[in-house]
Amino acid sequence: MSEQILRQQVIDTCLSMNASGLNQGTSGNVSVRFEDGFLITPSSMPYDHMRPDDIMFMDMDGRALGPHNPSSEWRFHRDILSTRPDINAVVHTHATHCTTLALLGKPIPAVHYMVAVAGGNTIRCCPYATFGTQELSNYVLEALKDRFACLMTQHGMIACGISLDKALWLATEVETLARQYWGALQIGTPEVLSDAEIERVMEKMKSYKYGREE
Ligand code: 13P
Ligand code: ZN
Repeated sequence: MSEQILRQQVIDTCLSMNASGLNQGTSGNVSVRFEDGFLITPSSMPYDHMRPDDIMFMDMDGRALGPHNPSSEWRFHRDILSTRPDINAVVHTHATHCTTLALLGKPIPAVHYMVAVAGGNTIRCCPYATFGTQELSNYVLEALKDRFACLMTQHGMIACGISLDKALWLATEVETLARQYWGALQIGTPEVLSDAEIERVMEKMKSYKYGREE
């Protein structure tokens, strides 16, 4: 894929996450692997002002190329992309229901079988650390072990994928799960599916278009 097309896809992903209500304002950020580094949104620039040349290139040593500051969260984007060959794109949002659970430090347990689309029997919530820090990135990597999404205490959520489309799709699924779990908590305590059932679901999902395969 050409660099110009990828740059536009980063912008389209941002526009789409705001238009769908998955994110608001200049919160959140997006990256995609490119050559020996990645393309990443500039820091605090309104998405509808972004043009392809505003998207920053960064190498895996954290050297940025382009006219702006890279997203303040470049560390976790870099660390995810450099340690997870199964991930090519990272979407970070402050999606309302994910963030509502994350305000309480609550992970999403297997209250619905769709939790399995994030790679296992729970969507973890990593501990709080100041935005943009290496400490936050270390927590995020731990929460993403064998997973493609996590919540972040008192902050938001991250969804990853083999492509920008898949990462955005997963972000939407995780926000939907968060909304459903949050809703269930208003009226009761939902049952949690067993590990064996989630294993079965994950096996069945392999033959669906869910998740990782393009
Ligand atoms: P940036 O605008 O620097 O990407 O920061 C937004 C954000 O969500 C920080 O966590
Ligand atoms: Zn954030």
